[in-house]
Amino acid sequence: MIKLQNVSKFYYNKGVIAAGFSKVSLDFELGEFVAITGESGSGKSTLLNVISGLDSYEEGEMYVNGYETSHYLEKDWEDYRRKYIGNIYQNFNLINSYTVYQNIDLVLSLNGVSKNQRNKKILLLLKQVDMLKYKNTKVSKLSGGQKQRVAIARALAKDIPIIIADEPTGNLDKNSALKVVKLLKDISKDKLVIIVTHNYEQVSEYVTRKITMHDGKVIGDHKIKENSTIIEDNKYSYKNMKFIDKCIIGLRNTFNVLPKFILLLLVYSFIVCALMGEYSFFKKGEYEASKSGINTYFLDTNDHRVVINKNDKSPFSEEEINNLKNMDNIDYVLENDAITDQEISFVDNSEELWFSGAVSSRELLKEDVDVGRSATLDNEIVIEGDKDDYYLTDLKDDVINSKVYLLDSSTEEIYKDKEYTITGIKYVESMNLNYTEYRFYVSDVVLKDLLFKTHQSFSKITIDFMGYNHVSDPGITTFQLKANNKVTPGKAIISEDFNMYCDRLNCINKSFNVNTSNMYYSMDKSFIIEKIYNEKNMNYLLELPGYSKDNYDEFYNGIIYINPLDYNQLFNKGTYQISIYVKDIELLDDVISNLNNMGYHTLKISDTLVSSGIAEFLSILKFIVTCVLVFVLFFISYFIIRIILKSRNVYYAILRMLGASKSICRELLILELFIVSNISYFIFIAIAEINKTKYLNIGFINTVNTYFKVNDYIILYIVLMLMSLLISMRFSRKLFETSVMNAYREEV
Ligand code: ADP
Ligand code: MG
Repeated sequence: MIKLQNVSKFYYNKGVIAAGFSKVSLDFELGEFVAITGESGSGKSTLLNVISGLDSYEEGEMYVNGYETSHYLEKDWEDYRRKYIGNIYQNFNLINSYTVYQNIDLVLSLNGVSKNQRNKKILLLLKQVDMLKYKNTKVSKLSGGQKQRVAIARALAKDIPIIIADEPTGNLDKNSALKVVKLLKDISKDKLVIIVTHNYEQVSEYVTRKITMHDGKVIGDHKIKENSTIIEDNKYSYKNMKFIDKCIIGLRNTFNVLPKFILLLLVYSFIVCALMGEYSFFKKGEYEASKSGINTYFLDTNDHRVVINKNDKSPFSEEEINNLKNMDNIDYVLENDAITDQEISFVDNSEELWFSGAVSSRELLKEDVDVGRSATLDNEIVIEGDKDDYYLTDLKDDVINSKVYLLDSSTEEIYKDKEYTITGIKYVESMNLNYTEYRFYVSDVVLKDLLFKTHQSFSKITIDFMGYNHVSDPGITTFQLKANNKVTPGKAIISEDFNMYCDRLNCINKSFNVNTSNMYYSMDKSFIIEKIYNEKNMNYLLELPGYSKDNYDEFYNGIIYINPLDYNQLFNKGTYQISIYVKDIELLDDVISNLNNMGYHTLKISDTLVSSGIAEFLSILKFIVTCVLVFVLFFISYFIIRIILKSRNVYYAILRMLGASKSICRELLILELFIVSNISYFIFIAIAEINKTKYLNIGFINTVNTYFKVNDYIILYIVLMLMSLLISMRFSRKLFETSVMNAYREEV
């Protein structure tokens, strides 16, 4: 069966070569019960380890069933151990955290025996070694004799031909030792049993052969009695371990040493939190950077906004506007959107409250206000601003329900003809409007009002007055055009001072020409002067709310008043530019391509932001930091996990002694870490979900919830699983760097 020819085993230790045994030639047959004796250090254990395939030999040749083994690779030795060898040790090498049943079950699972067969066999074996009533006892609770009987049952579990026992009775009292020896004798009927013992008397009446060793050499080899005859020829076939059994054992290993499980869980929770925290921190940064770009043309940098005009620069028809409104994924359509990019100011009567900012349709305010109530009537306004703004926080009681008026910031004229009420305040984290402090959410009616009042600023106005050309400047009252109901259509009311341009200092019934031009159109219109105003008759002629003679020179002298219909003709010739706001930002690009297909020219507002390079910088930084973090986390966790798993080294050494291959050990380890990392990951997800309810409120998880999309969760899951995989691969590589015996020796 086994034949050794001049086999030697050397140990290399710090440059010194020591012989474990040398030039040993022996022959073993099935049915033998061999005792090896000899003083301590004579090489008995070394010999057994070589025969078991647990240690290599350096010289000579060992034959198994007549075949040479000197060319064997690690894998061949694994196969050999699995097919031929059952080991029994002085210190039992059972898995203490498993029950008696589970210990034997492990060997059978490793060899791909089905669950049913396993159960039958285990019960049979336990009966054979008289341990049936301890089947569900943890091994750590057994006495030495009991442990050794379990170890024997485990060795017998596989249908292997060779049982090798190294001082199996060394740690046992006399009675237990006797039981164990008898048991070994029983099983040697159809096997080869080799036992090492100090105490030959104990085994002398049972063994068939006695080998004596001294100083690494065999000095005696005597036949004591006949071998037992082999009754049946066993077919020692084996299968591969089943996947389900790997999972069961992986699960068992995960939970059966509780402190280890908790420590691993903590380490993994730390990894998950660190990954999530870092990643969400950057997601937040990226998001904010993407919104924080600067642009000097658009005040309303709402990222849902797309500016549209027609390629031929013509105005939009009613039908076209309706078609836009009926498109998919459209939240709101703003005609004449330029109003939303103008800075508008509101003041109250006492001019204590003075707000300048951008206007938006209140259709776009999706959330509830933080103070006061939302606006419902046409003239009601919600104001949005920084949550640390003095006026909106300390003075919020004054702001709510305050009556405010539109202010022309270039002329400082307050339009008292229309009164607005601020009903609510909405806070934002930090105001991201280009250089403006506030945003006003107003009704569409107010948007139209504002548009009317601010129209001039979009156009260049040239007035040809009695042969002189004047360019109107909103900052200067002279030659400003204003609408007033008191003026007859087609006519104008001008200031007394203009009389100096006219013959005989009288301009009545004289005509002048106004040209307005902007990026869309240029038009001329002539007016006939019907009346002349001065500081005394001005209010009588034009009924100006808030008019006072004291301000005449500053605010009123030089203005040309025309009828609102004419004013509209000059400035409000149609809708040339529209902004749409999409519902779902994810579909923004689809909407844009639809619009382009419809023949419109589009401009995505987020593209107009001249980013300060922060977004690009952040995404590069995110990538680098994530890589570094994953790398650092990998090593930190690898070292911590290695320390935690150190206790597992014995376990894996035992597995290998039982014939488990490297790949099975690695898979079991991977499974164990996968299970723990999945648990930590899903605990985190669960906590993140709870965090959305009122029962929990952790700031950092809120950030994760806000900025993480499904694909981010998937990415991080993959990163985590890859990390677990790498850690277990690395760990198992370390584990298998040495031979089984060396690995085992290091630990015990
Ligand atoms: P026994 O089991 O008979 O007591 P061993 O087989 O354990 O003897 O040891 C045989 C010889 O090999 C001894 O001289 C011992 O010092 C040496 N030896 C055993 N294991 C190692 C090892 N791992 N490294 C170096 N020398 C060893
Ligand atoms: Mg020994």
